[in-house]
Amino acid sequence: MISQELLDILVCPACKTKVVLEDSLLVCHGCGRRYPIRDGIPVMLIEEGDRLRLPDAER
Ligand SMILES: [Zn+2]
Repeated sequence: MISQELLDILVCPACKTKVVLEDSLLVCHGCGRRYPIRDGIPVMLIEEGDRLRLPDAER
């Protein structure tokens, strides 16, 4: 699990919106991208976010 302190500084690399932890994914409500956490390390890469992007997100 990742710390609240870390969460507080994490932003979506695509749109700079703060991400929130949901179901062990970091979700950007700005653009709908979702970022995985691997071995406790958030993977904040746009291409990863694209892969897990919410299907109902536009743009
Ligand atoms: Zn975003």
